[in-house]
Amino acid sequence: MTTFLDVLRRRSSFLLTGHENPDGDCLGAQVALFRLLRALGKPVHIVNPDPIGKGFDFLQQHTPFGHARADTPLPEFEVAVLLDCCQLSRVGALGQRLAQSGKTIAVIDHHVGSDRGDGTVCYVDPTAAATGALVRRIHRELGVPLSRAAAEGVFLSLVADTGWFRYSNADAEVFAMASELVASGVDGSRIYDALYRRNHPDSATLLAETLQRHRLRLSGKLAMVALDKALMERCARADFDTDAVLDPLRSLDGVEVVALLKERFDGTVKCSLRARADVDVQQVVAAFGGGGHKKAAGATMKMTLAEAEAAIEVGVQKAIALVGARRA
Ligand code: 5GP
Ligand code: MN
Repeated sequence: MTTFLDVLRRRSSFLLTGHENPDGDCLGAQVALFRLLRALGKPVHIVNPDPIGKGFDFLQQHTPFGHARADTPLPEFEVAVLLDCCQLSRVGALGQRLAQSGKTIAVIDHHVGSDRGDGTVCYVDPTAAATGALVRRIHRELGVPLSRAAAEGVFLSLVADTGWFRYSNADAEVFAMASELVASGVDGSRIYDALYRRNHPDSATLLAETLQRHRLRLSGKLAMVALDKALMERCARADFDTDAVLDPLRSLDGVEVVALLKERFDGTVKCSLRARADVDVQQVVAAFGGGGHKKAAGATMKMTLAEAEAAIEVGVQKAIALVGARRA
């Protein structure tokens, strides 16, 4: 049986990609894998479905990020590696091109069920806090030392998916890796400033406005924010990260689930759920073809914003009832 590591060792050229609107884990893992393949002497390109967000600019000092354009051919590659997701349907129009290419699709991911996605070779561990942690493990297994740039990538992955070490997935492996990365020269405070301290002047108003839209449902157990297209457009113009509403809402006493619903221009609704305590939000979004983790999950819902609000409320109500039934 060909193992994932054999593919990295034996195949000659690679294209690294990930989900639409790539986040810190996806991009950090790509940086680390890019460096690892370079160290092995392999031609490698990063091609994402979307350009990288402004906050991630600092990565471009050492790593070239490309994004797919319909009118531009893809670079030569033998194997496409999907990081932080496992389905080509999450890679936008680029996903269709990769499917049509007939090339090997490999997956490195930490989501539940990712070994049953579009990858024919997979390196999956749903207990890992971040995809970047898996790329760190691969360095070790192949005996490749972590370069400074790769260390920065892994650090970014860890902080992105553990909320800067605050979530319950911040386990001993995360802290051990973080210690090693900082010892090797990663400057966490510089990364924090690059990510969060260069906000557009309108972002304070947008934070207030988006937070003001929240509604408490299910006797205060569900905090929901629905952002219509008009507000989404203003957020996009100011490069405002709407995920900023999640944390203040998650901090309200009694709230067990936070739902952020974003109306998209293609008529779909992107939903993000975050749970406190035992509610399994991954199960809620599974009903809409989404996925993720027990405490952080998302989906793209093909319905109106109002319908999505109602559907999520019903789903969360059932998930909360399930926890109650388990406790009883
Ligand atoms: P977020 O809410 O930050 O977009 O995503 C939370 C988690 O759910 C992430 O681990 C992300 O990969 C996953 N997720 C978000 N949207 C989707 C989706 O449409 N499909 C699947 N399978 N997973 C998603
Ligand atoms: Mn991730």
